[in-house]
Amino acid sequence: MFGLDSHCLIADREEDYYDLETYQGSLSRWCSGCGDNAILSAVQRLCRDEQLSPEKTVFVSGIGCAARFPHYMKTYGFHGLHGRALPVAQGVKIRRPDLHVFVNMGDGDCCSIGAAHWIHAIRYNMKMVAMLHDNGIYGLTKMQASPTTPEGYKTRTTPRGALLRPINPLTTTLGVTNVSFVANTVEWIPDLLYATIRAAYQHRGFAFVRILQRCPHFTKDLFEPFVRDPNKLLLLQHPDGIQLPAETARIFKNTTAHDPSDLDAAREMAEQLEPVPVGILYQDESVPTYDELRRPLRRHSPDVVRQLLESEFDKFGIAPPKAR
Ligand code: SF4
Repeated sequence: MFGLDSHCLIADREEDYYDLETYQGSLSRWCSGCGDNAILSAVQRLCRDEQLSPEKTVFVSGIGCAARFPHYMKTYGFHGLHGRALPVAQGVKIRRPDLHVFVNMGDGDCCSIGAAHWIHAIRYNMKMVAMLHDNGIYGLTKMQASPTTPEGYKTRTTPRGALLRPINPLTTTLGVTNVSFVANTVEWIPDLLYATIRAAYQHRGFAFVRILQRCPHFTKDLFEPFVRDPNKLLLLQHPDGIQLPAETARIFKNTTAHDPSDLDAAREMAEQLEPVPVGILYQDESVPTYDELRRPLRRHSPDVVRQLLESEFDKFGIAPPKAR
């Protein structure tokens, strides 16, 4: 776990306003043109617009290119183990519900080794924003097929093309009990990306955002047709969905009305591979969070819990030898 030095907190407090620079951590080491840079910019903009206190904000990641995210935020951060970002984030949230918790995962990280944690994090529905940076490849380990690599796509572990059909992170998430927020977006349209992440942040439970993310180093051609032709995207529109500035909304020639409260419609929409639906697929603010369910069961304060635990541990203490 790493965090902030006291100097930067004092400086920010004096100005009483958190500007973009407040959130800018170390210089990004992602490749030039990597879509992760766009996600970072959108998240820093969100933090500024929501005026999130850096000392109350934590970014948690696993392993992979996307997992470098916490290093580039001047907030608290935890760069953990492969696939284990979500349980760490849940641990942070359960102990410190006052913190703003964000999770950054790659597709290998979340949908492969971390898949069990992903499913249970959806079910627990604890308030946090989980961003899936989906570039369809293991980038950090140099171009191995991931669970979202398209069928037939040539990688270093599948030189004749990926044999399996990919996991669809949207339908998977929408199939889990207690799902409460699922959105799909792309990193190359900044207003769309920002509006989606902001809607996720404002959701009261577990908000899952799948972000199609370019990896110019290993999967240069994967999203290029979608970048060049906005007709390959389908903007989901609804008063309860994301709202884009008029000049950005004009980019989209393909739009459709979609009510995010309709789970069946969301599942049907999530199956659609082209044009790619972007916006909020599903949102249900009424799903209870784990914290809400657990609160009435808490009978003891943290101090009392500590005392009880210590008295239990004392039972295993080794008595000093008797004085002769
Ligand atoms: Fe980004 Fe791909 Fe480079 Fe990783 S390998 S930093 S995902 S461009």
